[in-house]
Amino acid sequence: MSKESNKEAPQKVAMVGTPCHIIAAAKLDRYSDYLGESPLDIKIGLFCMENFSYTYLKKLLEEHQINMKDIIEFRVEKNYMWFYLTENRMYKIPLKEAQRCMRKNCQVCMDFTSELSDLSVGSVGSPEGWSTVIIRTNKGLELLKGAEKDNYIKTTPLPESGLKTIERLANKKKKENKEEINKRESVGRPVLYRRQISEEEFKEEVSECQFADLKSDVVDIGSCVLCGACTLVCPDNIISIEDRKPQIKGKCPEGCNLCYVACPRTYISEDILPRTADKKPLGNYLKIVSAQAPMIQGQDGGVATALLNYALSQEMVDDVIVVDKDKTEPWKPQAKLTNNIAEVLNASGTKYAACAVFKPLRSLKNAGNGAQ
Ligand SMILES: Cc1cc2nc3c(=O)[nH]c(=O)nc-3n(C[C@H](O)[C@H](O)[C@H](O)COP(=O)(O)OP(=O)(O)OC[C@H]3O[C@@H](n4cnc5c(N)ncnc54)[C@H](O)[C@@H]3O)c2cc1C
Ligand code: SF4
Ligand code: SF4
Ligand code: SF4
Repeated sequence: MSKESNKEAPQKVAMVGTPCHIIAAAKLDRYSDYLGESPLDIKIGLFCMENFSYTYLKKLLEEHQINMKDIIEFRVEKNYMWFYLTENRMYKIPLKEAQRCMRKNCQVCMDFTSELSDLSVGSVGSPEGWSTVIIRTNKGLELLKGAEKDNYIKTTPLPESGLKTIERLANKKKKENKEEINKRESVGRPVLYRRQISEEEFKEEVSECQFADLKSDVVDIGSCVLCGACTLVCPDNIISIEDRKPQIKGKCPEGCNLCYVACPRTYISEDILPRTADKKPLGNYLKIVSAQAPMIQGQDGGVATALLNYALSQEMVDDVIVVDKDKTEPWKPQAKLTNNIAEVLNASGTKYAACAVFKPLRSLKNAGNGAQ
């Protein structure tokens, strides 16, 4: 799947993202001739059961007299949200209570393990301090093997019980969210990305859609995952994310439909996302292992961070996208494009809120390395 340019060598980027980010990346790849060349070369997906609204989570914590500033680490485990606080304090909120902060778009998400990534990393299934890694493509396998050979990570077989747990959770997510999708479809809130359509039908459906359609078909009905893919591809640079919603300032030129094509929550053809995958709880894969990066303080095994560092150090990619905390609003996710190992290490750990991971790629595009 390597891309060759007859101009100068294109910039290559590795990304880490949730399953919805990875679906958007797959669309950016698939339609790169149309949307502009995608620099995304290595896609490391995360497991993801649900995500939370930063604003609502902040409010919920305030109700519990907890300031976001005091949080060192978050975890979602064993039906609780766990907060590790300064001065060695710890606090937990039942997941049931925190679920009112869950993003609406997550209720129609069918992918638990980033099925379209090169490899996926999660905590479920492996012992504490280790990550579960699902290797899906030869590129993912090469990355993992190289990182292990050069001692960035170590691996061990995944316990059989671990595999069963991951499959059970993936099936649960698919089943429950399929019910929600059917419910929404029946009351006129279409879930377009789950409709079964061919490539030809896709082209037909999107041909005349512009931002106004993206707004009504995705944003206004609670389907937007806030990934930022629309902001990346807009040729006139008129989309910005304000009040946690994509908005435009200006008028769309006639014939442009790029944001609608790129969005992971408009139509997706069977060529990209075969619906037969719904029958396989974890999608297609080559191998599953438990892995750990002993030198890295990550969310689980520190594997996502170690793989990014390895890809940078071997010059497999020029830059990576990471999600760090905002300097002024701690724990507010902030996507960054970087080739600085210290920044990658700093960004380790899970931020349980949506993040426009594609936004920083705009700088590459503006510099003329990306698409027109
Ligand atoms: C919203 C969310 C929900 C998750 N839910 C589950 C779950 O239900 N079950 C499970 O097993 N695992 C879940 N994970 C994955 C898990 O929390 C760890 O990220 C994963 O195990 C990798 O751990 P690590 O130590 O290898 O990663 P680390 O080395 O700590 O690196 C984590 C990487 O994730 C990136 N990142 C952090 N926050 C975000 C974000 N909001 N969006 C995109 N990228 C981000 C960082 O840039 C960093 O590169 C979730 C992750 C997220 C972001
Ligand atoms: S839509 Fe929600 S649950 Fe699905 S991958 Fe994105 S953040 Fe996770
Ligand atoms: S100019 Fe094109 S990409 Fe930008 S908002 Fe309008 S339709 Fe979308
Ligand atoms: S509307 Fe934009 S930010 Fe929202 S899911 Fe679609 S591409 Fe992503």
